[in-house]
Amino acid sequence: MLHPKVKQLMKSIVQKNPGEVEFHQAVQEVAERVVPFIEKNPKYAEAKILERIAEPERVIMFRVPWVDDKGGIQVNRGFRVEMNSAIGPYKGGIRFHPTVYLGLLKFLAFEQVFKNSLTTLPMGGGKGGSDFDPKGKSDNEVMRFCQNFMSELFRHIGPDTDIPAGDIGVGGREIGYLFGQYKKLRNEFTGVLTGKGLGWGGSLIRPEATGYGCVYFVQEMLKVKGDSLKGKVCTVSGSGNVAQYTVEKLLRLGAKPVTLSDSNGYIYDETGVDEKKLDFVFELKNVKRGRIKEYAEKFDCKYFEGKRPWEVKCDVAFPSATQNEINEAEAKILVKNGCIAVGEGANMPTTPEGIRVFQEAKICYGPGKAANAGGVAVSGFEMSQNSLRLSWTREEVDKRLQDIMLAIHEQCLQYGKEGDYVDYVTGANIGGFVKVADAMLAQGVV
Ligand code: NDP
Repeated sequence: MLHPKVKQLMKSIVQKNPGEVEFHQAVQEVAERVVPFIEKNPKYAEAKILERIAEPERVIMFRVPWVDDKGGIQVNRGFRVEMNSAIGPYKGGIRFHPTVYLGLLKFLAFEQVFKNSLTTLPMGGGKGGSDFDPKGKSDNEVMRFCQNFMSELFRHIGPDTDIPAGDIGVGGREIGYLFGQYKKLRNEFTGVLTGKGLGWGGSLIRPEATGYGCVYFVQEMLKVKGDSLKGKVCTVSGSGNVAQYTVEKLLRLGAKPVTLSDSNGYIYDETGVDEKKLDFVFELKNVKRGRIKEYAEKFDCKYFEGKRPWEVKCDVAFPSATQNEINEAEAKILVKNGCIAVGEGANMPTTPEGIRVFQEAKICYGPGKAANAGGVAVSGFEMSQNSLRLSWTREEVDKRLQDIMLAIHEQCLQYGKEGDYVDYVTGANIGGFVKVADAMLAQGVV
């Protein structure tokens, strides 16, 4: 049964944002947890803080025409959702994927507001992207697209205004092309994007940060239970940036990752993905841009076409591909197979019904906005280093990342501990909400 105030809010959200189902899902998850807290703290209700947070401060939508290798003209759509700047400039990734539309980016930007607040760093929330599909495009096509995308976006962003980063389909290559065009148009070398190359303003550990941070977060959740990741069999979905570095950190902590996937299917390597096999994945995905099926062919393991890895028995699951990739039935299989923890590298990878299954089974469930905040945290460090005109060492960045993941975990405990169970969803949502809400109260009705 929905709380009447949540019901009322959702009615208006659905009416005002028709068809944006992922956005509705994200707002409802937050509202269910935050509304009871707001009832105990009426100053937030009077100032309509939640209603204001659910309305983007600004949405920019633009045409991106570009010329393909055959000389044909293509037209894509570009977006930037500037969701909330109460605690700092807008910050959040850019996604290039055919499924991108306004509602998807609004969900991601909304999540980003709470996530960024949890990091303890001064960053507001935003998200952007395009329905452009980099898959199967040549480097030159990707470059021309990025240049045309930036030809519009550059006038809306800046190192103190809005600082985009990567996300699905936007990695080091794309950030390079976007940055080059921004620099050319503005005639300024600034930290306007994060995820830059090391030789031109990037931070050590930024590529690793989301995956490493997620593993650190799970380690903390298990520590509360007196357990650790050592020897744990782990299923990982995706095989992009987040999945790759999740596997790398798991290996360093003595766990055994056994699956990887892409949008075509998943591999199950019973003997475990080791360092050498992971090197193959780095090369396959980041250089050759091939499919995960080739892993199974190379290392002679099982490949399941068109399926997701949650049917494989595991101790810990790391969904690291995309939204809504674990449904209720899959969550039930995970629990039945003895899964004790879930760390969300991806954003909103579990459906609301799936989350309920995990929480009713009282397993450690670390939602994306807490567990995958390491990426944006190190993006925040990249901004600090750019401002200082200095570079921190690998050890220094990694230590700061660990400290932030611990601080996020602490906030989840502060707001989510119920007896000896920790409700990390409630903890993360309220923890993220309070700082933004107080800043909005202080800044008046703007
Ligand atoms: P990448 O583009 O590097 O990798 C994405 C991976 O997920 C690929 O293996 C891709 O397969 C798979 N995938 C994408 N869409 C789908 C789909 N619809 N169904 C099945 N598989 C899919 O992206 P990232 O690793 O950067 O991002 C992964 C997730 O992590 C996203 O949810 C993102 O928002 C989140 N995230 C990323 C951060 C970062 O720092 N990069 C920070 C915080 C969260 P294929 O190649 O076939 O498309």
